Amino acid sequence: MDTRDLSGQTIYRAGRGIEETARELGVDPAELIKLSSNENALGPSPKAVDAIREHAETLHSYPKASHADLGDALAERWDVDPAQIWLANGGDGAMDYLARAMLEPGDAVLVPDPDFTYHAMSVRYHHGEVHTYPLAEDDGFAQSPDRVLAAYDGERMVYLTSPHNPTGSTVSLDEIEAIAERTGEETLVVVDEAYGEFNDAPSAVELLENRDDVAVVRTFSKAYGLAGLRLGYAITPRAWADAYDRINTPFAASEIACRAGLAALEDDEHVEAITDLVEWSREYYHDELDAKTYESGGNFVLVAVGDASRVAQESKERGVIVRDCSSFGLPEHIRVTCGTREETKRAVETINEVC
Ligand code: PMP
Repeated sequence: MDTRDLSGQTIYRAGRGIEETARELGVDPAELIKLSSNENALGPSPKAVDAIREHAETLHSYPKASHADLGDALAERWDVDPAQIWLANGGDGAMDYLARAMLEPGDAVLVPDPDFTYHAMSVRYHHGEVHTYPLAEDDGFAQSPDRVLAAYDGERMVYLTSPHNPTGSTVSLDEIEAIAERTGEETLVVVDEAYGEFNDAPSAVELLENRDDVAVVRTFSKAYGLAGLRLGYAITPRAWADAYDRINTPFAASEIACRAGLAALEDDEHVEAITDLVEWSREYYHDELDAKTYESGGNFVLVAVGDASRVAQESKERGVIVRDCSSFGLPEHIRVTCGTREETKRAVETINEVC
């Protein structure tokens, strides 16, 4: 017996931990800085850590009200109905739920190229077909209506990412609305806002007031610093009523994750500290890197370095781990996460030296 034909599916391998990289280089992990996964430079919200400690003793029992409590808190924050909040195992899990709710085998989904890999993976896992619209460097990797609609051919879902990973480009509400208008009611426009907290642009959730063909994906992994907990959610159309109850996995998010999420959601101070730091770090990269950088609305910056694989390797040997964007189809670019002030300065020094 074998699995179904998975030969076309991308193989996902988690990035190597800092300890493993340190072993490979024969150095102390403390000498390395990891700026390759867009993690929160200030760590998790301390309030979330307290909540986890406080509830650790209840781990033997199945989740209780915390799932509903977090859904209610998010519904209040976004001014939507609690049924519109689909909690999941990270933003990735939220994408899976959307695909589960939307796709029949063979349905097509339009995603940008380059793109965060999981959009396409999730579509394939759900027996869908991936179509792409190209992003171009000469217009700042914009996901403009022109670009999207030139490729659009009646796909069941269209992915926009704002800010876009790995380029950092953003999409305005007017642009999203223009795209949704043209793709019509049978196509769901999914706006992935995993990095939404790192800029002042309004969320596409606003569009859900008047539209039932837009959904938004958000996560606790970035601004809230809870990537290890795997907690994210989709905000879905009001018209979908009980769809979540019909497709979700029982206990879609763990008790501990929901408790921590609730605490983190109330920790405005932590979110403000990281967003201020990111703003500073982004500017520092733009001002101080010799290589070309691109405007970014996220906690990372794309840098044109020529030979990305060499620059990433040599930076790593000097203790600074950055993302070689070859796997995104950008072999001349690296992506560097906004670190602490000290990390950011060291990254600039190292990248300039290596380039
Ligand atoms: N969307 C984008 C654009 C991302 O870059 C990421 C993670 N790097 C995610 C979604 C998923 O994040 P998570 O599953 O950790 O919530």
